[in-house]
Amino acid sequence: ASLLHEDSSMKDLERLRAEFDRVDERIIEALAERRGLVDAVGRQKAKNKSSLRSTEREEELLARQIAHGKARGLDAHFVTRVFHEVIDDALRLQELQVVQRAAGTSGVVRVAYQGVDGAYSQLAAQKFFARDLDRTELIGCLTFEDVVGHVESGAADYGFLPIENTTAGAINQVYDLLLHATLSNVGEEVFRVDHCLLALEDVPLFKIRRILSHPQALTQCGKFLSKLRNCQTESVADTALAVRKVKEDQDLSQAAIASAEAGRDHGLHVVQRNIADQDENYTRFLVVAKQPLEIDDRVPCKTSLVIATSHDEGALLRALDALHQYAINMTKLESRPRPGVPFEYLFYLDFEGNMAEARVQQAVEQLRAETRFLKVLGSYPLQGRARTSPPSHSYFAPAKQAETSVASATPSATAAVTPSNVTYKLASRGSKSKNTTIRVRGVTIGGDDAFVMMAGPCAVESREQIRACARAVKEAGAHILRGGCFKPRTSPYSFQGLGFEGLEMLVDAGREFELPIITEVLSSEDVRAVARHADILQIGARNMQNFSLLRAVGQVDRPVMLKRGMSATIDEFLNAAEYILGQGNQQVILCERGIRTFETSTRNTLDLGAVPILKQRTHLPIVVDPSHAAGERSLVVPLALAARAVGPHGMMVEIHPNPEEALSDGPQALRFPEFQDLVRATLLSGA
Ligand code: PEP
Ligand code: MN
Repeated sequence: ASLLHEDSSMKDLERLRAEFDRVDERIIEALAERRGLVDAVGRQKAKNKSSLRSTEREEELLARQIAHGKARGLDAHFVTRVFHEVIDDALRLQELQVVQRAAGTSGVVRVAYQGVDGAYSQLAAQKFFARDLDRTELIGCLTFEDVVGHVESGAADYGFLPIENTTAGAINQVYDLLLHATLSNVGEEVFRVDHCLLALEDVPLFKIRRILSHPQALTQCGKFLSKLRNCQTESVADTALAVRKVKEDQDLSQAAIASAEAGRDHGLHVVQRNIADQDENYTRFLVVAKQPLEIDDRVPCKTSLVIATSHDEGALLRALDALHQYAINMTKLESRPRPGVPFEYLFYLDFEGNMAEARVQQAVEQLRAETRFLKVLGSYPLQGRARTSPPSHSYFAPAKQAETSVASATPSATAAVTPSNVTYKLASRGSKSKNTTIRVRGVTIGGDDAFVMMAGPCAVESREQIRACARAVKEAGAHILRGGCFKPRTSPYSFQGLGFEGLEMLVDAGREFELPIITEVLSSEDVRAVARHADILQIGARNMQNFSLLRAVGQVDRPVMLKRGMSATIDEFLNAAEYILGQGNQQVILCERGIRTFETSTRNTLDLGAVPILKQRTHLPIVVDPSHAAGERSLVVPLALAARAVGPHGMMVEIHPNPEEALSDGPQALRFPEFQDLVRATLLSGA
């Protein structure tokens, strides 16, 4: 009987899978149909010379589909992610049309890259030409010179060359080649590189004696390699070649560093994934051709130049000022030694703009007047275009009005009542004319109008818990995910946090829901390690005057949110910020979280007066945390609404999927529905 039962449940499963297949086919049909429309729209736009992109129209589309999705039980974040891909695909397709029209290419396109099958260059080239892969022939070359030679001689239409890596930096050989080549840049591709350790079998790390790879890949995995004992490295021409050699040698003590794809193609085993020093490791590639592209100015472009300035005072400054005068955004400046002239330099620079624009031509002419050498390498469509965020109202349920609404008064920071005897300088208003703005993964904190909501649990407790919170934060329309991993607890017997294990969970949740993360760092020794993963470091109230910790976070390049000590005056608070600023780190956020007074009905007393005072005295962004001031759920929302009205740049609140079971600060954690209402009330009451 049980066999029969198993049999019928297998049949059910098969039937369901067939059902899946049918749905998936419909998805593909719909995507293909959409692409067809995109094609037609692209041609229409070309005729009318209308712009390729309209943020307004994209916002409208996202809002409509989010509402549609909600009605069918799909969450806003999921719908947004799917449509970001769909919009991106449409834009890429239309840009490729424009580029191909400009290049006059039809028929088969030959693309030369350095490497053999499975090399990163090949994978990236496939990505770049993905819209037209059927008509693309990829030609693997032995060296970068060969790639250039192929294009110069006409044996290939395009060359595909790596130019920089986010871990290892510039690829100098390619820079030097571009100087003398008679080629133009016509495109770029940014490719995520996931280095894997590959071997014949799943051998334990300590048995590996020799690791083969491209020198760049070996550099990018330096930390991983330095931990291996009795193991040599060997440079080979490219990563895919390393894979091939490991396969051919049939030696179990050998391994290669390459992509998982290259390993799969040659039947190697992935011993360890993502072994680069930085987990976000990207390589930028340039596409070069014999003729420059003339792209109409509807396509957002980048332009690359090489310049040599004269050897006198302020020469580089005058040159760059030309770009500034025409409001051109420089995205890269790289210096290289001038061949044959010791200690003189060439500068490679990239900026946003297109040589087809009059403004850019004028800027380049002025730049030319300030330099001894100038070569335009070309204009090309830029990658990594900004994605349109759904308008904030689309996160909120359509019919239901927020019960609480509040108009925020933003007091002006004009009448600066700074005491004359201040002992802080860098933090003071006088030291900087504009308000400090801090950007993390596309979210801006500070400045004049942004209001940022940060939320999450007091402590990261489990993967499920932090994931549920991240989803709630995203779905509510809030911006940053918090979660404590190292907890400063009053009693040493209380839960102390999950440490680095918790941080990994927080990172994963942030990635999944595309939210920057903030977490507290408790000790100087941990600062660097935490800074490697967190987008913002938090210094807790108890550590506001831990001066060695303040110095340590002052030395890293990560924004720091400094919480006001529970018995600190505003003056002491600003002096604590000064410790961080004084070490170099200018990205400090201040957080008012309640101070200790004679009142014992609340955990602390939220000092809202501090907000307008701080706004007068400092240019740093100010955030209010009503949760730790209230200590009790029912007080958090009223305090938060009051806080909104005094004009901070943001707010931080604690939430929990199930506060009764929280391992810390459960009584003050908002439940998800209350939190959603709060976000709606605070974001809709925009100043
Ligand atoms: C926290 O935000 O996790 C925290 C411990 O707050 P505070 O340092 O303000 O007590
Ligand atoms: Mn807490």
